[in-house]
Amino acid sequence: MLIDAHVHLDKYGDRLDDALKEIETEQIFTVATAMDVPSYLELQKIGERSDLILPTFGIHPRRAAEYAERLSEIGQHIETSPAIGEIGLDFHWVKDTSTYPAQRKVLEYFIVAAAEQNKFVNLHTKAGEKEILDLLEKYCVKRAIIHWYSGPMDILQAMIDYGCYFTIGVEVLYSDYIKEIAKAVPDRLLLTETDNPGALRWLKKNDEVGMPTAIRQIVSVLADLRRSAPEQIESVVHANFARLIAEDPRLEQVARKLSIPTS
Ligand SMILES: [Zn+2]
Repeated sequence: MLIDAHVHLDKYGDRLDDALKEIETEQIFTVATAMDVPSYLELQKIGERSDLILPTFGIHPRRAAEYAERLSEIGQHIETSPAIGEIGLDFHWVKDTSTYPAQRKVLEYFIVAAAEQNKFVNLHTKAGEKEILDLLEKYCVKRAIIHWYSGPMDILQAMIDYGCYFTIGVEVLYSDYIKEIAKAVPDRLLLTETDNPGALRWLKKNDEVGMPTAIRQIVSVLADLRRSAPEQIESVVHANFARLIAEDPRLEQVARKLSIPTS
């Protein structure tokens, strides 16, 4: 089974039905990450339409400033969510430095909750890579997916040593640096994502809507880079995701779904 471990399904608008159809037809297990509270509420509704979709609650670093004084509201939604994401830090694309303390406050709140409730996290780390690794270590959060890693190689290695998983996404189709990262991640920590529907549009500066089957292109490029075959990459990623959620009492149903033999 293909795994897309970082997608913004609530952003599809009138293409949502098409996207859900592709997810079902191609059997793509999809982690649907939220950006904020309304996004999570929408994802919960979308999640009812397919058991291949896992909606997770997070506040994106871009939205953190709006939520820094609303931590108890955040806490209520964390309780209902089986995992956590998208959360993180962005000190690169977010230029307004006055939001950085709020980003740190909201992220730490989520990390503490993830530790207490033993939930996996889906992290955006842009220019906050080292700080995020320090937080994971400080609170002993072991199950972490690093989404679209593009930071320094030495921090990548430190995150690998800590046992973080990495979702390789659409930028691997275009960037030599991301290709290097995609080669450096060991088999046991490799995951895939599309960051649909906006990532391709953002990279190519056009109006392309990323569709779920884009995950196949990523798998195929990973196979070339890692001197492997697409079927092999698919099964490695599937096994890794299954391991990430194994023995998670909130994800037993998902684990059963993933235990169905592929191919
Ligand atoms: Zn995202």
